[in-house]
This record gives sequence, structure tokens and C-alpha cells, in this order.
Amino acid sequence: MAAGIYLHIPFCKSRCSYCDFATDVYRDSEDVDRYVAALCSEMPGIWQEENRTADTVYFGGGTPSLLSAKQVEKILRSVDLLFDITSEAEITMEMNPATVTPETLRDYKSLGINRASFGVQTFNDRALKLLARGHDANDARQTFQMLREAGFDNVSFDLIAGLPNQALQDWEKNLDEAIKLSPEHLSLYLLEIHEGTPLAEQVRSGRQPIPDEDLAARMYEMMLDKLAAAGYEQYEISNFSLSGFKSRHNTKYWLLEPVYGFGVSAHSFDGCQRYSNERDTAKYVDMIERSGSAEVNRERIDASSEFAFLALRLNCGIDFADYKKRFGQDLMQQYAYELEPLKTAGLVEISDRRLRLTQKGMLFSNEVFAAFV
Ligand code: SF4
Repeated sequence: MAAGIYLHIPFCKSRCSYCDFATDVYRDSEDVDRYVAALCSEMPGIWQEENRTADTVYFGGGTPSLLSAKQVEKILRSVDLLFDITSEAEITMEMNPATVTPETLRDYKSLGINRASFGVQTFNDRALKLLARGHDANDARQTFQMLREAGFDNVSFDLIAGLPNQALQDWEKNLDEAIKLSPEHLSLYLLEIHEGTPLAEQVRSGRQPIPDEDLAARMYEMMLDKLAAAGYEQYEISNFSLSGFKSRHNTKYWLLEPVYGFGVSAHSFDGCQRYSNERDTAKYVDMIERSGSAEVNRERIDASSEFAFLALRLNCGIDFADYKKRFGQDLMQQYAYELEPLKTAGLVEISDRRLRLTQKGMLFSNEVFAAFV
């Protein structure tokens, strides 16, 4: 089975108020050069697998679009040295508005990047300011235009619903504008408030309202209706695509397929074990420079239960026969005790020999997944 490659680029122009990812503020190109050198030398250092075929490569972050074309080229060369990247591989880069020029985009394209995952979040300037995004809505519109002019024909937007003071009509405007721009793919998330972030502190101190769960549920419903009417297929709780444009890389995570991650805080799954790297960038670089590895955790997982709650995120759900073939067990017998109350609560359903989340189950998915852990 072809694997996926994940490359974490931690740098951002500034830190958004809701973000709890492993990120660092971009200082200068030399700093990034040192990180890129570490990332490239990590690959041969830890690699022991036989199967070297990969059909997805994903630059995530952070803001990978802060990399120069030369830095991207260096990383892709290292990937090429280690893996057989298939000719039809999906090669994605996460990009943020106002971080690229037409020239960099053309260079990325010529290096083989064929998909952009674009952090729009909202088209409302006041909300962008509140989130400390460091760009305005016009920057997003212009960058999207530049992506199209550079020949990117597989673009995904990220949008966030349930922002502080966001009314249902505001969310509707965001959806309408996104649909009008017509990206091939949309990832739409409900805002989560993470402890330790500036936004969490603002909510705690009463400067921002506590998220309204009922409103978020209405936003979710609106999103399902509008996107279906516009021809987008929902294929995962938060992900929608036009025909033929599902994220192949992210689907690997939901189907528990091998994905090898490199860089600070990167996670890998080799088919049996999960392992992850140091979360602090300076420490990561140091560890790689000293020993070639920055691994800090490794564990063998219970593959059948992880698969059950990951694959349930997909709209197609879990096919009983596929599950039996892969894990040698009957899904409904294995989880009879856990599934009964979920069925009664209307969170999961069974049809066509598949187990799926209902629409209500998608909204309360954490409750469902907890049953499988
Ligand atoms: S751009 Fe993305 S990764 Fe960077 S700080 Fe903002 S939310 Fe976090």
C-alpha cells in the first residue's frame, strides 16, 4: 500500500489567538534554512521500512507558504531520494493569505505542488482581527486569484464557524462567498477553544462570549444544506469536495493507512505503531543535529478500535465485510455493548451492511468516538 508523507513547517508570520499547534514566529530565512536542513537529515536517519512508495505528500504547519521555492525544492529532493513518489501523487501545501507572490506560486507549481490548502477562516475583517490572523479578507480573495492564475486547479479553503459574535447570517455570507469562488474542496470547522490560547483567556475573562452550541448546530445544518445544493459532497464530518477532489492524504488518516511524518511535532503511523517527534522547534533541531532522531514517543496501537473511530468520521462509514477482512472480527459483535446506546440516542445508524454516523452523530462525534477508546 502506498504511504503518505507529512512534512511539518512550524513557522507563521504571527500567532493566531485560537491556535494551539506547534508553531513559531518566522524570524528570518536563515532560521528556516537550519530547520529545513534538520528536516532533510531526519528522513534517512529514521527510515527503516521496506515499502518506499508514497502517493501523497503534504506540507502542513504552521505556514509552509513562508518557505522559499529553494527551501521547498531542497525538501522535495530529500523526499525523492528516500521514497518512490508515484507520478500521480497528490502534493499539497498549506498556504495562508498574504504570504505568497505570483512568482512563488508559479515556482511551487513547477516543483510539483499540485494542491493548495488555503487558510481563509472567514471573510469578515472584524473577525479576522479578533483571531489575530494577520491578513484581511481582501488578501484572501487576492491570494485565491493568484493561485488560479498560477494554475492551481485543486484548491481547498478552510473556514471556521461559531466565531465569537458570529451570527447565523454572518456564517451564511461566508458560505456564499466561498461557494461563489468555487474551490474544489472545503474544510469547515466549528471553533474550538483551546486552553492556554489568548482566545481562551478572553472567553474566561468575559471579553468574548462563550460559544453557543445551539447556534453552532444551526450553522452546521446550514453548511450541509448549502454545500449540498452547490454540488459539494460531504465525505467526512468537516470535509466537502467537488467530484474527484477528496483529500487523498487526509483520507489515509481516516482509513488508518501508513503516513510518515517528518519535522517538529510530526506524527507517524507505520501500520502497527504510532510515533511522534519533539514539539519544541529549537529542541527538535538540536536533537536532529546531535543524533539524527527527534522521536519522543512510540506506542503499539489497538488498530481495530482506532480504525473504528477514525473511519466513522467518513460519510461512507464502515463496511462490515471490509472490517472483518482487515481485523478478523465482527464489528457489530465486538462493539455490541457500546453501540446499543448510541443507536438509541440516534447518533449512529446501520444501513447497507455499514455503520455510519447520523447527522446528529456528526455534531456530537466526540461522544461516539469515546465509546471506542
Ligand atoms: S496561521 Fe495557522 S498554524 Fe499559524 S498561528 Fe495561525 S492558526 Fe496557527
